[in-house]
Amino acid sequence: MEINKKFFYVTTPIYYVNDVPHIGHAYSTISADILARFKRLSGYRVFFLTGTDEHGSKIEKEALSRGITPKELADNVHIKFKELFNSLDISYDRFIRTTDEDHIETVQKVFSELFTKGDIYLSDYEGWYCIPCETFLTEKSLVNGNCPECGRLVEKIKEKSYFLKLKKYEDRLLKHIEDNPDFIKPSFRKNEVISFIKEGLNDLSVSRTSFKWGIQAAENPEHVIYVWFDALINYLTGAGYLYYKLNLNQDKSINELNKLDKSDKLNELSISRENNFINYFSTAHHIVGKDILKFHTVYWPIMLLALDIPLPKTVFAHGWWLMDGKKMSKSLGNVVNPVEIINKYGEDPLRYYLMREVTFGLDGDFTVKNFTTRYNSELANDLGNLVSRLTAMIKKYKNGVVPFSAEINIDLINYAEYLNSSLNERYENFEFSKILEEIFLFINKVNKYINDGAPWKIDLNDEAGIRLLDSILRSSIVSIYYISYFIYPFMPKTSDKINTLLNIKSFLLCNEFVPAEDIFKEGFKISDENIMLFPRLTDKS
Ligand SMILES: [Zn+2]
Repeated sequence: MEINKKFFYVTTPIYYVNDVPHIGHAYSTISADILARFKRLSGYRVFFLTGTDEHGSKIEKEALSRGITPKELADNVHIKFKELFNSLDISYDRFIRTTDEDHIETVQKVFSELFTKGDIYLSDYEGWYCIPCETFLTEKSLVNGNCPECGRLVEKIKEKSYFLKLKKYEDRLLKHIEDNPDFIKPSFRKNEVISFIKEGLNDLSVSRTSFKWGIQAAENPEHVIYVWFDALINYLTGAGYLYYKLNLNQDKSINELNKLDKSDKLNELSISRENNFINYFSTAHHIVGKDILKFHTVYWPIMLLALDIPLPKTVFAHGWWLMDGKKMSKSLGNVVNPVEIINKYGEDPLRYYLMREVTFGLDGDFTVKNFTTRYNSELANDLGNLVSRLTAMIKKYKNGVVPFSAEINIDLINYAEYLNSSLNERYENFEFSKILEEIFLFINKVNKYINDGAPWKIDLNDEAGIRLLDSILRSSIVSIYYISYFIYPFMPKTSDKINTLLNIKSFLLCNEFVPAEDIFKEGFKISDENIMLFPRLTDKS
């Protein structure tokens, strides 16, 4: 069975450690977590990678201004990301740091491979550079002499530099984009990438000599490797590229590889993936913000084409969050702090709101009013009340035992089965909001079914009345079991609470959906516990 398992590799961008995490970081990472959880629950072998991008002149300058070393800055800030991801229940398999030893080695190896192959060469660089964006700029792209992205002053740079050949791969990249509709998503992003490539690609400068904080080129330690070249390679490091190459080139057995460094946890992780590098990497789903799409759909695939590695399956660019219609910025003081929201409302309402409020891929507007409305009406009322009143009824009428030989409502089950069968395709298309919309349609069908059936009005002195009650209770509890399964990727903690109430194990421990009839067997009893899923918010809270 193990051999036939399907692979799934999902990544977030790695986050720059010059600032503490904000809602955008939470957004990318939650979406990747949702995919990872769904795929694990569907029996895939999943590898979920996130982490921090820790090199570059921006970090060097920031550290200098704080009077600490760049590594100290990275050590301090990367913890903030880990803390946020833990409080958001992010189920990453590895948190990679670009200062990790195996990553440094991977970057140097890739650089050397491409240099040996002639796809990287030494030349002179003269041009403009935006330090905050870590981006090289052409003269014509400047806006009034400033960076077109951030509007800040750019610096003139003249130095020796290594260059990556881009033009050589232009046609192959265009063909790949056109032949693979899944490669760039949402599809409306495709044209901007294609027209960028068709304007003609200049070879990319991939090293610097003007600062020190970065990975040295093994060929020439004067040069530190361009931070984007370094950062993108994290996706290879995470999938175990180093060990894949070692095995390929030197024909080392896994046992020999295991001897390399047993004490190193990271190496062990990579070794465990070594044999499956291509299996994982060819399924890669890179989730990125729309501002870094070009790096992931032009430079990155060209690096991979040059390395002769299959390209990732999908690069998905999501939108940005505004706050009350305005761009979030420190100067406006309207930056949404995810930690504050989690402390106040819990992580699941935040995960839910971000995924439900806007179609993934478009920009969203974060408003406290919409957040609390969704919390109160959808989470507390529709979902929370359904679970609490149904479990209360089973305790009241049946002493906690789920009725066994009872007729199941066919409309509810058909809808649940339809939803279940549509999930994989919807997740593949990143239709998070649509999935949640349909789950909540189902929740409200169950609510209506109970209201219409009105168990509290049924005459229980009558045999037919008892049969009707049993049918309503069993149909509803089976529906809640489906609901818990459906919401698990989005709201894992809430799903766990429901499963505790139902007296069944967490979906975290499952790699498939177990049919309801195998769970609610004769005499099955739900838990005695009372858990409030979503306490109602008042104006004071
Ligand atoms: Zn800039």
